[in-house]
This record gives sequence, C-alpha cells and structure tokens, in this order.
Amino acid sequence: MRKFELIAPCHFGLEAVLKKEIIELGYDITSVEDGRVTFFGDEEALCRANIFLRTAERILIKIGSFKATTYEELFQATKALPWEEYIPKDGKFWVAKAASVKSKLFSPSDIQSIMKKAMVERLKGVYHTNWFDEDGEHFPIRVFLMKDEVTVGLDSTGDSLHKRGYRKLTAKAPIAENLAAALIMLTPWNKDRILVDPFCGSGTFPIEAAMMAANMAPGMNRSFRAENWSHIIGKNIWYDAFDEARELVDMSVEPDIQGYDIDGSMVAIARENAKLAGVEKMIHFQKRGLEQLSHAKKYGFIITNPPYGERLEEKKDMPALYTEIGRKYKELDAWSLYMITAYEQAERDIGRKADKNRKIYNGMMKTYFYQFMGPKPPRREK
Ligand code: SAH
Repeated sequence: MRKFELIAPCHFGLEAVLKKEIIELGYDITSVEDGRVTFFGDEEALCRANIFLRTAERILIKIGSFKATTYEELFQATKALPWEEYIPKDGKFWVAKAASVKSKLFSPSDIQSIMKKAMVERLKGVYHTNWFDEDGEHFPIRVFLMKDEVTVGLDSTGDSLHKRGYRKLTAKAPIAENLAAALIMLTPWNKDRILVDPFCGSGTFPIEAAMMAANMAPGMNRSFRAENWSHIIGKNIWYDAFDEARELVDMSVEPDIQGYDIDGSMVAIARENAKLAGVEKMIHFQKRGLEQLSHAKKYGFIITNPPYGERLEEKKDMPALYTEIGRKYKELDAWSLYMITAYEQAERDIGRKADKNRKIYNGMMKTYFYQFMGPKPPRREK
C-alpha cells in the first residue's frame, strides 16, 4: 500500500478532540497545529478517515511543504512537487483555497494563480504537451501558509465532511454537524445517559448523539471526491471501508435522547432530518418551549446551542432567556449543562459561573462552550 501523510483541518479550538479520534481510528499523529491535525496512513486510512471521523472538516493528502518568502520561491518549490503522482493528463486541477497567517506571501488570489502556473509547467514537462483539456477528474488543492512555511494538500473529500447527507433542511443558525459532534465528545455523555437539547432547531445535537449511540459512521451515506481517483485508490478499498462502517452499526440501542423547540416547524424539520439519518427511532422530538422543560430522572445532560441574539431585535430578549435557562437548570436534579453561545453575558444571567469554559471559533465568530458539571451517578451494583 502507498503511504501518505494526511492532513485533517478542523474547527479552531477542537484539535485535541480530532487528534483523539484519529488515534482511536488507529493512526499515528505527526503534528497538531492550529486548525489541523496531520497523521500517517495508507489508502485504507484515507477512506476510513473520510468515512469515520466525526470532527474533521476534510481529508487532504499532503503533497509537500516548503519555505517561501517570494513568489519566485513559491513557483519553483511548487513546480518541484511530484504532481504527476496524483494528477493524470486529463485531470482538472486548481488551488481551491489558500490561507495565509503571519507570512510574507498573503494574497490568496496571487498564491492560487502562481501555484497553478507552476503545476502546469511541471505537468507540461512530464506529459509532453502544451495544452491540458482538464476534462477528467477533479483535483482541488488547498494551501496553508504559516510563518512562510507552505503546506500543500490535495482534497480527497469534496463537499465538506460536516455534510453527512441527513440535513436537507436547516434552522436559521444551524450548528455545523462536525462541531456539534466535537462538543458532544468534549462532554462525558455516552449512550447510557440522558441527553436533552431544549433548543434543538434542525436537530443537529440529538441526531449526532444518536449516530454515536448507534455507532453509525458519519460518512457512511455520502460520497467522496477521491472515490473517482481509481489510479490512486482502488475501488475495493472504498467498498471495504463502507462495509466496515455498515457492519459496525448497532440499531438495537435505546438511548434516551430528546429534542425540543418552541417552533413547531423546526421540530418537523428535525424529525425529517433524523429520518434521513436513520435514527428517528432513537430520538423523541417535541414542540415545547423552554419554560416547559423538566425531567423526572437524575444525572442527565443538556447539550445545546441557544439563541444568542444574532439579530438586533432579539438582543433585548437574551437576559430573560438566559435567566430562564439558569432557573430551569437549577430545577433539574444532578444534571450537567453544556452550552455553546456567542452571548457574552451567559454566565451572569444564568447566575452561576461555568466549571469550565472553552473558546471555540465557529467560522469567524468567537463563541464559548460553557460547561456546568453535575455530579457523577453512583456506580450501579452488578
Ligand atoms: N442547534 C440548532 C440551532 C439552534 S437555533 C441546529 O443545529 O439547527 C436556536 C433555536 O432555539 C431555534 O430553533 C429557536 O426556534 C429555538 N428557541 C428560541 N427560543 C426558544 C424557547 N424559549 N424555547 C425553546 N426553543 C426556543
């Protein structure tokens, strides 16, 4: 099998969760940087990473890395990379995204066009042609510049991995599926514990949790760009990875997962999405406002993404809403509350300081993941 170095970008602040997932999938980490984790793997690893990782954004094959402070250096070093090992003569290739941090070269469009020219020059020499029709498979390149160090990756994923395929309809401000999964993984929740999302919107938290409970791989019902790269990865390797995912699913689990929303149309959407994900039997969705939140059992988890006043006219409602969250949480016996929000006064209005608080970038928006930890349930006697 061919050995690769694979790069998995993720949300800023969630590198440790992704790293743990990759190790558990069986691969060796080579580096962890802001917003990405790099690891070693073969073709099988590439397929399995795409299908099984819940918190990655995509999987790139690392083509190379080098230092460049001038466009001439960027051109020469890009041209020196072995592009022909990946891109066939009829391949369509382009630099889909360039991100630059603390580097002399910072204009994404210049980086993109210079690198494309360098790739053309390289492949002209290899394929002995002056013209590429580019009417074959697609090979999008992604580049990161960090302190003048250029890292070049080939995107094997296509549509971002947060698109599991189940969320055809969304709320106004849906949380990305891979972010929701990462946040659940940051809590001690497991399928034997109660989970309630009182602001469930399109159902992302309950659905991601149910998929975890059923051991359902997030990518088992979608396709990936690299499935068409049969010169790099044999079809049978993809089939084996999809088979593995299907065999691992356990539909016999009966987790206690609930999603509520004050908006009945959102509840209908959440149900539809859960059905598409194949987990509708594992979740109880209901139209219910926060003021009706209660639960007879102890030791449950609220994992949620409340409104944060994104629109000006909603801002004034936030203190009352978060005060109510605090009041409802207090009524629940021995529960834990995990909440991601951009609302800055959350702790003040809830009336309690979080036990832990983690800063997470949701795109460009700074948000906080507040963690109010309840007591652990007593060990059950066997
Ligand atoms: N995480 C969700 C998005 C949540 S947006 C997703 O991924 O789709 C916040 C949700 O809270 C909205 O759907 C809104 O209808 C709901 N909401 C607002 N006020 C509420 C209240 N008082 N009680 C219950 N739900 C409320």
